[in-house]
Amino acid sequence: MRANFSKPVAAVAAARAGYRCSHPDCGKTTIGPGAARNESASIGVAAHIYSAAPQGPRGQGGLSGAQLRDLSNAIWLCQSCSRIVDANRGDKYPPAVLLGYRDLREFKTSCEMGDVSDLQGWFDEIVVGGAMLSGESSIRLGKATVFRGRNDSGKTMVCDWIAGTQSRERLARWRDSEPPPHLVLRMLHRAGVSELGVAVREGTIVYTLDGASAPLNPLDYRIVYLRSTATSMEETALDRIAHAVGIDYDTAAGLSSVIAQNPGSFVTGARVEGDDLHVGLSGNGDMLPFSRLSGGESWLVTIEFALALAVAEALYRPTLLVIDNAVGSLDRVATERLVARLSTPEFRFQTIVVATDQESPFFGWQLYDFGGTRGTIVPAYENAQISGNGS
Ligand SMILES: [Zn+2]
Repeated sequence: MRANFSKPVAAVAAARAGYRCSHPDCGKTTIGPGAARNESASIGVAAHIYSAAPQGPRGQGGLSGAQLRDLSNAIWLCQSCSRIVDANRGDKYPPAVLLGYRDLREFKTSCEMGDVSDLQGWFDEIVVGGAMLSGESSIRLGKATVFRGRNDSGKTMVCDWIAGTQSRERLARWRDSEPPPHLVLRMLHRAGVSELGVAVREGTIVYTLDGASAPLNPLDYRIVYLRSTATSMEETALDRIAHAVGIDYDTAAGLSSVIAQNPGSFVTGARVEGDDLHVGLSGNGDMLPFSRLSGGESWLVTIEFALALAVAEALYRPTLLVIDNAVGSLDRVATERLVARLSTPEFRFQTIVVATDQESPFFGWQLYDFGGTRGTIVPAYENAQISGNGS
């Protein structure tokens, strides 16, 4: 049975988009005068992100009929874009891309209104080149994006450079790479659109803003960069977590009181006791010291700290959560739950996840394949088309 939108839901979707098409390359006005002097005409449609029909493009993502008919599953498009996004079973437009388009359009509309939005900005595109990458590649960020590929294909380098737009320390290890890496980050924020560049010139890291050299990066945004780094044994649980999330001990201690409040949190409760952190995990009522958790469990708890930080930051500035080697130590159930959570609109930040597994569970995400032939970065749908034609 088709899960169509009701008229009121479609009307709210249209209004929230300012009656403009949400495809960022289109943006056409979808309402205007009709054929007769006393008529109006509309060329807009409330399109489904996850499909109305079981066999439709992008599938139904395990959503119930009510969820499929909900406003949260609607994107306002012009008629021609609504056909474009559904072509080839929607391969080129996975749900994370359409969720991104919808959020971006609503953000632009609220900026035009001069009104407040609960979204603070949008990380739109990254252009990167140098080191082991061949040529220059463009990465369009969705609500949730996966960098996928074997080791040494440049995934972590690109993450370091994204984080490095805010921290020269992150860039240091890549300074001597040949050719020198460079990155341009294009973002939308309340004041407009900015292009921030980071590059190495004669061994020194230099920044540009909208093409002009800049002594520093003055843009207000936050990259939360979670890395699964091996650390020494004498550190306390909170030291280890703080190190992985890139924050100080006191910030980690502060976040411990809110990690259980993350939407869909794996943690039911947490408290600092002396030098240790005691946590309750969902599915297990007991509070356990962090040191007694398995590798996968302690990584889940660490992820909740990064999520809590991103939730707090996203209230005030555009926020991008980057998780290196996100699912390496997680079992399949935990992985699928994490992936589903990160792509929900409840989290008002964007996410990049680095993964090595080709059989990844990132259904509905924007996927980029690193490495491939000669150090390229290409959207996964292009690879799928290439292999499809070859067989
Ligand atoms: Zn359009």
